[in-house]
Amino acid sequence: MARKGLFKWKIAVYVARVASGITSPNDFNNKVLARHIVEAIRNVGAQLRDERMGSLICPICGKGPFTKRGYYLHLTRTHYYHLINLVEAESERILGVSKNIV
Ligand SMILES: [Zn+2]
Repeated sequence: MARKGLFKWKIAVYVARVASGITSPNDFNNKVLARHIVEAIRNVGAQLRDERMGSLICPICGKGPFTKRGYYLHLTRTHYYHLINLVEAESERILGVSKNIV
């Protein structure tokens, strides 16, 4: 699967867009992705959105405050694998599959 890396990159980008508020969780949709993946991206994005008095703080490492764009870049650069792991875990939870994916 040569395209799998690109696919994962896109998932991390989508999560970071939702978490930073560039895309609203309710507006995020993607017809190419399976339903449970879209749902997982929305949930994880919402979980990673920690806005305090107009500034974004990263709940993973506590850094910040960030602007929307700065937080988006921080997530995709610093927490790339973490984002993908969170989406994988969340989509497994949604499917109700108790499979070890780590
Ligand atoms: Zn961080």
